Amino acid sequence: MSGFDVIVVGAGFSGAVMAERFASQQNKKVLVLEQRPHIAGNCYDYIDDSGITVHHYGPHLFHTNKEQVWQYLSQFTQWTPYEHKVLGSIDGKLVPIPFNLNTLYQLYPNVQAREIESLLVEHYGAGGRVPILELRKSPYETLQQLAELVYEKFFVNYTTKQWGCSPEDISPEVTARVPIVISRDDRYFHDKYQAIPSQGYTQLIAKILNHNNIEVRLNTDATSLIRLNDATKSVEFKGQEFNGKLVFTGMLDQLFDYSDGELPYRSLQFDFQTLDTPEFQPNTTVNYPNEHAYTRITEFKHILKQGLDQTVIVKEYPQDYNRNDPTKNVPYYPIFNQDNQQKFDQYKKRLAYFKNIISAGRLADYKYYNMDDAVGNVLSYFESEQSVC
Ligand code: FAD
Ligand code: UDP
Repeated sequence: MSGFDVIVVGAGFSGAVMAERFASQQNKKVLVLEQRPHIAGNCYDYIDDSGITVHHYGPHLFHTNKEQVWQYLSQFTQWTPYEHKVLGSIDGKLVPIPFNLNTLYQLYPNVQAREIESLLVEHYGAGGRVPILELRKSPYETLQQLAELVYEKFFVNYTTKQWGCSPEDISPEVTARVPIVISRDDRYFHDKYQAIPSQGYTQLIAKILNHNNIEVRLNTDATSLIRLNDATKSVEFKGQEFNGKLVFTGMLDQLFDYSDGELPYRSLQFDFQTLDTPEFQPNTTVNYPNEHAYTRITEFKHILKQGLDQTVIVKEYPQDYNRNDPTKNVPYYPIFNQDNQQKFDQYKKRLAYFKNIISAGRLADYKYYNMDDAVGNVLSYFESEQSVC
């Protein structure tokens, strides 16, 4: 007997909210297993020696239109309002990304920009948001030329670095995350709520997990303790059958010991630097689609407006994922295309035979979830549970 009703694998947003809901709504005893030496998954942040709040796995900016997610998380944190703005280094200039009307007027002579603006408004509406792959299909020559410029200067090289393939070879949803925006709005996100947890994500997730019914064990790879018995379709924990619920937020291929092959992921190398200067760049993130091996530089002090003498920046170098190489073995992004989805669906089918396993999160669902999606999915799961009970 494990003494627990629920075992949760992973202490990121998905695992933490699952644990909290089981503990607080169903009075279950929950064990959370996390392989890393810290909670909070990829949202893990900390205050470094210079006093700056650093996001250890790359910049995390919270934004949502999901009222329920905002209300739920607000029980555990106060928020510091923050609207993310990104600049792109294009032909030696820093211009707003997503490409919008301000970007247009910075890259084109006024007369030409005005002509393009009216065409964009005519065809996509003022305030419209057009994915680059859609704009490229425009039958109008002027818009086609615009699309070619934006594709060449903003998308093709960035995407090739980030994913190891061209924009056409990855799900269109990926590049559609950063559409061409037919307005003067420079913000990266347009959601109703945009803010950063005032004490950071790690503190927020620590509060979510802070419940008498929840025990968290760090530095614990769950797959060394958990085995799926394919013959009986049951879960074993430390060699004994476990009849409680297993919540799994890791990689399904790992859970099944890669028996149907490996699922492809993309990894990143982060190059952090502490610099003896109060400011390195004008805002939080500058994208470098074209001129470097890294995709973007983030300067963290802009997020919480920390006025300190030093600054911390991080450069993101995309790379292939390799589970056997400690410098490449973090699966930051599932690689979203049809072939990979089919491979994933095979694992998902096998998982369905295990009635007491719940899978959730960016890895286990093999989806491009933002933080609010991860939290929202768990809250929806509990709502549908309640309606069944
Ligand atoms: P994760 O955070 O990945 O947590 C999964 C946890 O499970 C990890 O801690 C992992 O160590 C653990 N685990 C896995 N397997 C095992 C095992 N076998 N045993 C024990 N533990 C295990 N979202 C936004 O909304 N805004 C942003 O600005 C943003 N920026 C991002 C930038 C980058 C570079 C990346 C990679 C992601 C970004 N995201 C952003 C997405 C965000 O990180 C995810 O939505 C969120 O982390 C999903 O939470 P999760 O719990 O599903 O997954
Ligand atoms: N993208 C791009 N150029 C940019 C910004 C984004 O080509 O300047 C594409 C790229 O394929 C990227 C995708 O749009 O992976 C989604 O960008 P987002 O900023 O949402 O990526 P994330 O922050 O999740 O890494």
